[in-house]
Amino acid sequence: MAEVSLHKLNKRFEAFHAVKDVDLHIRDKEFMVLVGPSGCGKTTTLRMIAGLEAVSDGEIRIDDAVVNEVPPMDRDIAMVFQNYALYPHMSVASNMAFGLKMRKFQKADIEQRIKRAAGILGIESLLGRKPRQLSGGQRQRVALGRAIVRDPKVFLFDEPLSNLDAKLRVQMRVELKKLHERLAVTSIYVTHDQVEAMTLGDRVVVMKDGVVQQVGEPLELYNSPANRFVAGFIGSPAMNFADVTLAGGNGRLWAEAPGLRIGVPGPIAARVNGHSGKSAILGIRPEDLRVASPADPAELCFEVEVEVVEQLGSEILLDTRAGNSLFVASVDPMLRTKVHEKLRLAINPDRLHLFDAQTEAAI
Ligand code: ATP
Repeated sequence: MAEVSLHKLNKRFEAFHAVKDVDLHIRDKEFMVLVGPSGCGKTTTLRMIAGLEAVSDGEIRIDDAVVNEVPPMDRDIAMVFQNYALYPHMSVASNMAFGLKMRKFQKADIEQRIKRAAGILGIESLLGRKPRQLSGGQRQRVALGRAIVRDPKVFLFDEPLSNLDAKLRVQMRVELKKLHERLAVTSIYVTHDQVEAMTLGDRVVVMKDGVVQQVGEPLELYNSPANRFVAGFIGSPAMNFADVTLAGGNGRLWAEAPGLRIGVPGPIAARVNGHSGKSAILGIRPEDLRVASPADPAELCFEVEVEVVEQLGSEILLDTRAGNSLFVASVDPMLRTKVHEKLRLAINPDRLHLFDAQTEAAI
C-alpha cells in the first residue's frame, strides 16, 4: 500500500525553473501518467520522486513520510528506464538479482523472486542470456523484471516503451496494463505519447512548461479539456481550432469567422453568455465533424473546400478550409471526394468547445 503526494514541488536548475508548484496526489494502486511535450518537466518530476534529483522547494511524501532527504536506495521505489540500463556483462538472472544483492537479500529469497518475476513476464528461458543476446522487447521485459523482483511500494516508469518499434510498443503497452492489474502496485509513468497516456492511465496529468495543466481520467481530459493546450494535446488527430467572434443575433449566439457562422448550441451559449461580442477560440475534434446531410440544421453546417484527402482505410481524414480556418474532418471511408471539391460539413453540437481568446481557458 502506497500513496505518493507532491506538495508545491519545484525544481530550479540555476536560473531555469523546470518544475513549478506541482501539487499531486497519487492514490494507492493507481496508475498515474505524466504526459506533455519534450521539456515540460515530467522526467524531472519523476526523478525527484525517485530521489535522483534534489528538490528545490516543496515536499514529496510516500504514505505519511516526507522523503525529500531519503536516499533513492531507501525509498522502496523501483524505476524502469527508457534505455533499459541493463549491465551488459551480466546474465539476465544476474541483472535481476543485482539490486537485491545490494540490499543484502538472502540467496534463496533472490532465486525465488527471480523465478516469480520471470514467470510473470514469460522470460524463464532467457535467464542465462546476456543482454546483447536479447531483442529490444526482451530487454525491456528484463528491465521490468528487475523492478518486479524488488516488490517495491511504487513503480516509476520513464518512457519505458519509446525505444521499441511501433508494433512492439503496442504489444508491450497491453502487457504493462495486464501487469499492473496483476501486481496492483502504485505506478507513475512518464511519456510524451498521449495515446500511451490515455490507454494506460487510471488518471493522466498533462504538463506544459513545468506547470500542471489538468489532472483527470482519460475521458475527462478528452471530453472536458481545461484549456486549449490540453484540448490540442489529447486526441488524435488533434482538435481543430478557429479564431472566432461570439456575436448575438436572431435570439441566439453565433461563432463567426470569415467563411464560418456556427450557431452555438443552447447549453454552451448559456455558459458563455458574458462573452458575447468578444473573440474566442472555437474547438471541434475531427471525429465530431461529418459531411452534412439535408436533415442537419443549417446553423450547425458550414461550407469547406477540400485541400487534402488522406485515405486510411477505416476512415478518411479530409483537410479542409473555410475562409481562414482549417478543419480536419474524419469522415466515412466510402466517401468519394477530390481536392478542390466543395463540401458542407456538420458539427456535432454537443461536442463543440470554446476557449477564452486571452487566457485560452475553457469557457
Ligand atoms: P523529455 O521528454 O524531452 O525528457 P521532459 O518533459 O521529461 O522532456 P525534463 O527532462 O524534465 O523534460 O526537463 C525539463 C526542463 O529542464 C528542460 O527544459 C530541460 O532542458 C531542463 N533540464 C533538465 N535537466 C537539467 C539539468 N541537469 N540542468 C539544466 N537544465 C535541465
